[in-house]
Amino acid sequence: MSGSVVATRIGTGISSSISPNISPSIEIVEVGPRDGLQSEARVLPTDTKVEFVRRLVNAGLRRIEVASFVNPKRVPQMADAEAVLAALKVGPSARYIGLVLNRKGFDRALAAGCAEVGMAIAASETFSQRNQGCSVNEGVDAWLEIAAAARAAGVRAQITISTAFGCPFEGELPATRVRELALRLAEGQPDEMAVADTIGVAVPTQVTEVVSQLREAIPSARLRAHFHNTRNTGLANAYAAIQAGVRALDASCGGIGGCPFAPAATGNIPTEDLIYMLHRMGCDTGVDLSALLETSRWLQEELEHPVPGMVVKAGLFPAPRI
Ligand code: MG
Repeated sequence: MSGSVVATRIGTGISSSISPNISPSIEIVEVGPRDGLQSEARVLPTDTKVEFVRRLVNAGLRRIEVASFVNPKRVPQMADAEAVLAALKVGPSARYIGLVLNRKGFDRALAAGCAEVGMAIAASETFSQRNQGCSVNEGVDAWLEIAAAARAAGVRAQITISTAFGCPFEGELPATRVRELALRLAEGQPDEMAVADTIGVAVPTQVTEVVSQLREAIPSARLRAHFHNTRNTGLANAYAAIQAGVRALDASCGGIGGCPFAPAATGNIPTEDLIYMLHRMGCDTGVDLSALLETSRWLQEELEHPVPGMVVKAGLFPAPRI
């Protein structure tokens, strides 16, 4: 059949052409309002952030990282986390995720009404010290405590292994180190475990290796992956991840983002570019790509600069039928 119907919404073209290794349904976790906006020099007003999230929900995104509960002196872009969550209690909804790095952040996220918390632990000791101000072991202890508290509170808790493919300070990290850390983190029974290429250095063969090791070590884990497009390998890595069995991918609208503590890190993989690829492959994401592109254009206006995404510039193919 023609692939033309696949390009719009719900995977009408699911199919024949898709590899048997790839799930026909891939979940997108939109991280633009957090990972994206935290790197912007311009701090968007709370109302604009809330409108951004609403537009994403209206485009069909159902899991959105909307804030981080970290020290506002270190990340001033996220200082209004509570206000954003409070405003989102009204209107159409999605599962809103708050990023936390310690127990204090978790308590704030819980009080703010997050339905899901995400925590990140670095595979690299140096990155852990610089980004989170604690050792990897201290981070693991904090995660185990937070995971138990989240379960008791009925909040979903997921864990991300950051710098899983390389560290700006330590360089290459062996996949076995990620595997060992994952096994310790699994003791917290996370609802999902993610590997993050925090600084955008991964290549697809490495993704295949790391994901395969995690699937072998923790077969029951639901896996997610988080890529940055710093060296233009983001989409290739996303393809390798889903081919290796990952069911959920982080992406940011327009491809905005980075990491304020990772030198030269640039944006996440652009959500529109990822969804364009997935839909044309026959995967379903539940997202209306045309509506998402409108959001990306709106975001460029609000940020007062072009976003890195490419589909927003090139447009859809085939052109949507009116
Ligand atoms: Mg990131």
